[in-house]
Amino acid sequence: MSRRRKPRTPATSSTPPNDGTPLGALSDADLLREIARRRLAKGTFDIDAIEELAQAAQRDLGEETLAAAMAALPPEDDKPKACPKCRQLAPVKAKNRLRHILTTAGELRLTRNYHHCSHCGLGFSPRDAELNLPEEGEVSTAMERRILDFGVNDTFESVAERWSIHFSTSISSNLVRRVVDRVGLRCEAAHSEEALQMACREKPAEPPSMLTVATDGSMLLTREANWKEVKVGVVARGGFIPPGEERPRRRVEDARYVAVLGGQPEFKKAMAAALSVERADEVGTVVWLGDGAHENWTLATELCPLAVQVLDVPHAVHWAMLCGKALLGEGHCLLPQWEARTHELLDADSPEAAIQELMDCLEFATTPEQLAALDDVVGYYRSNEKRMRYRLFRSRGLPVGSGIVESAHRHVLQVRMKRAGQRWGMVRARRMVRLRAVYRTAGAVRFHRAIRDGLKAPALRHKSQLLPNAPRRVKYNDSAPSRVSPLNRAAAAAASK
Ligand SMILES: [Zn+2]
Repeated sequence: MSRRRKPRTPATSSTPPNDGTPLGALSDADLLREIARRRLAKGTFDIDAIEELAQAAQRDLGEETLAAAMAALPPEDDKPKACPKCRQLAPVKAKNRLRHILTTAGELRLTRNYHHCSHCGLGFSPRDAELNLPEEGEVSTAMERRILDFGVNDTFESVAERWSIHFSTSISSNLVRRVVDRVGLRCEAAHSEEALQMACREKPAEPPSMLTVATDGSMLLTREANWKEVKVGVVARGGFIPPGEERPRRRVEDARYVAVLGGQPEFKKAMAAALSVERADEVGTVVWLGDGAHENWTLATELCPLAVQVLDVPHAVHWAMLCGKALLGEGHCLLPQWEARTHELLDADSPEAAIQELMDCLEFATTPEQLAALDDVVGYYRSNEKRMRYRLFRSRGLPVGSGIVESAHRHVLQVRMKRAGQRWGMVRARRMVRLRAVYRTAGAVRFHRAIRDGLKAPALRHKSQLLPNAPRRVKYNDSAPSRVSPLNRAAAAAASK
């Protein structure tokens, strides 16, 4: 198929095109027919061969289209051009400088003028800007989107290998790494956390009736510092479980994810953005689930003072089991009963009954380790008493399990970052953690675009954003679920007119 493309006219037209080669007089359609006839005569024309022929034709056509499009561009003049940075005129420094760009249609070879600005030292090619080419890198935007989709879901080596199954080109694992790094940098440079959240998923037009928030930590193996904690948060609409139903049916797509390999202030900022875009201040019921970590509840109280704080049941049971193992011994045959009894005792309006039975075990604790284990679980239950009113929470249909955050760990981190033998450099790990959260929030189709949009200031679509927030410092009180006063909203609406 490599010959100069002729107009697609039937071969019967007055003068058939001819490039001098043996089949040069044939039209495209006739050429394909001739190739098919010859292959068939050789007896090797099965579906594989047919597909191969079709793909080769597509590839040739793609490259010819690219070359034709480049040839159709008007020639560049040699006049100085305005520098994109300082707007001073910069002369041409080199002509016909070659740039290769990998596109979805094949490799683009582009020769263009290179200008150098003596005022600010910037080098630039005006043609790159005309064509809207990425400033750096060797792939087009469409190609970047494709590689990124693979790169956030699989190891770089595996992507390079799998690529050749899907496409006729081949790419290196280093190219995948560079693309993911570049987009990761862009993601870190987002205008603000809010801008990124809004680019991922639109702010709801009406505040949802209920929000479930959950936070937890997950350990990641890094090269520099061995194990490092990734803070994971999820903000999901809904979460109400009709009493009597054990397993809520939840779609993970309904959630916003936050993941930070870094300190609490950074995590707080990211969580605050997710909550604000989800209009948490206007939501009737917010449930905040977490383990017993103190900083977790400080964060909940600061960001969502009206939220119902719930210590998730699996964590509560986990601490009782640590104590049971210390008292009875690891693997003891009574441990399943110990667990069942813990569940029974915790199904109450306070952990008091559980604490009482644990205290009754005091006389059996003989070693300092056993005493410490008892002390730990009792202290843990005492400091989380208000967050353990499980019977009340269940009767209200509030979630008390850890399913939502466990699924966040799995979907955001585990599948990409915690595979057997994986060790991450800190810089790349930080970026990937962030990319994964954005990927899960935005969804595969919107992901690449969301990161670009996140660089811009968010568009103010709802007037409520311009209004002062509802009073936030309210005493935590579960017996009366929070509701923003309708009067406040009416007054605010009136003020905005
Ligand atoms: Zn300049």
